[in-house]
Amino acid sequence: MTTKPLHALISVSDKTGVLDLARALHGLGCTLLSTGGTAKLLADAGLPVTEVAAHTGFPEMLDGRVKTLHPTIHGGLLARRDVSEHMAALETHGIATIDLLVVNLYPFEATVAKPACSLDDAIENIDIGGPAMVRSAAKNWKDVAVLTDASQYAEVLAELTGHGQVSETTRFKLAVAAFNRISNYDAAISDYLSSLDPATRDVSARSAFPAQANGRFVKLQDLRYGENPHQQAAFYRDLDPAPGSLVTAEQLQGKELSYNNIADADAAWECVKSFAGDAAAACVIVKHANPCGVALGADAAEAYSKAFKTDPTSAFGGIIAFNTELDGAAARLVARQFVEVLIAPSYTAEALEVFAAKANTRVLRIALPTDPAAAAAAARAFRDTKRVGSGLLIQSADAHVLDPAALKVVTKRAPTDAQLRDLMFAWKVAKYVKSNAIVFCADAMTMGVGAGQMSRLDSARIASIKAEAAGLALAGTAVASDAFFPFRDGLDVVVDAGATAVIQPGGSVRDAEVIAAADERGIAMVFTGVRHFRH
Ligand code: 5GP
Repeated sequence: MTTKPLHALISVSDKTGVLDLARALHGLGCTLLSTGGTAKLLADAGLPVTEVAAHTGFPEMLDGRVKTLHPTIHGGLLARRDVSEHMAALETHGIATIDLLVVNLYPFEATVAKPACSLDDAIENIDIGGPAMVRSAAKNWKDVAVLTDASQYAEVLAELTGHGQVSETTRFKLAVAAFNRISNYDAAISDYLSSLDPATRDVSARSAFPAQANGRFVKLQDLRYGENPHQQAAFYRDLDPAPGSLVTAEQLQGKELSYNNIADADAAWECVKSFAGDAAAACVIVKHANPCGVALGADAAEAYSKAFKTDPTSAFGGIIAFNTELDGAAARLVARQFVEVLIAPSYTAEALEVFAAKANTRVLRIALPTDPAAAAAAARAFRDTKRVGSGLLIQSADAHVLDPAALKVVTKRAPTDAQLRDLMFAWKVAKYVKSNAIVFCADAMTMGVGAGQMSRLDSARIASIKAEAAGLALAGTAVASDAFFPFRDGLDVVVDAGATAVIQPGGSVRDAEVIAAADERGIAMVFTGVRHFRH
């Protein structure tokens, strides 16, 4: 690369910051070459700019479909300055080198995100010449600096101003960013077009599962290891993360997050978020991806104390999440136990001081979504994935929220209002417990959690054994089962343990037997009609 870019080509759809950039480049002695709209903007600002059409001697045509697709442009971008034959060829054809390329593409992603976007609109927003130039410049990164995003302008200008050139490292980084951008752009086009029925091309009936799935993720950090120390791992985020999701977390202090920390933190955070609006405060304690204590309270301290009581043994080394600000009083209580990760939307200065003394504790701050409706829509749009062999299972997220009005009382005895509240609470928790899940609750607190067993009966037994070990009486509790009871035996176990109200999906061929058992035992039972398997 020459010490000063002789020629800069600027062709941008998003004109943010481009005028300042062009002014600065001009000030540094660069000549400016631009496509129609960009050239007009620069010329109107009084900058000397040559239109690409004048440069190539070929007019823009076909409504802008062909603007820069010309050997004069691509020759200027692709010629290797260190290969004499390349430079001789430019000379022969009277082509000038282009040393700096500034391009951002037609806004395909933003266009198709609009509900009213037609297929024609989408197609017209597929940029052709832009990506071609970006590829040319990025391929020839040793000689050309390529800028594809306004966020890169400042760094490049600083280097040009300070050293008269863009460093090799920066040029390579820019080239990588350019290919990333092109790859994401093409993936967005591929996703969109493959979601259409080829015969009807009806954009209002696009499939949520396109014929080809293009995963687009950006690395957040390398991890020391995976689930086990002999596995390698890294943490990636979606290209467009949902507000309030774990990937938006800010780590305020503590050791580096591990693979298992992240998985558990996500489980805790997603669970605690589901209690928005239920009480002043909710607290969830997670171990090995399962909640081992969940409770609501008048404040963070009360919610934590209740959650901790469910299973103090398992809570050791837990991941603890709050849906409300953590204050000094709650922090002092939490600090009595060993905590791996703490998560809250905010912390008082006093709370942060308490944990500053525990330097290893990882403290995460995650802003709750400001627009709950938009967050709910994002949750519904979220795609859950799971690798199987050389395949990938993709499903929409389990974003179902139970409406109490949808509950069906199936027993002679109906739940009281207090029981109904506990049933709803238990059902919310059960959604976040690995199947088979049995969750006993009372007074907005988990009293016994049975998780991840191959038999529902065993989950029920384990929940009651754990309650007993924690010194909690299950008499008069409400219990949730994530899926139906296939036989009456599971119901008998929970009633024997003390449950007087049950919430479950229903839908078994033996529902009648299970309902008769509930009536025989004199308890109340409601069906949700929805199941929450979680594997
Ligand atoms: P302008 O607003 O300057 O007229 O156009 C800028 C946009 O045109 C940029 O987004 C750039 O990627 C795109 N572009 C540049 N050359 C071509 C071309 O030959 N064909 C198409 N379809 N788009 C181009």
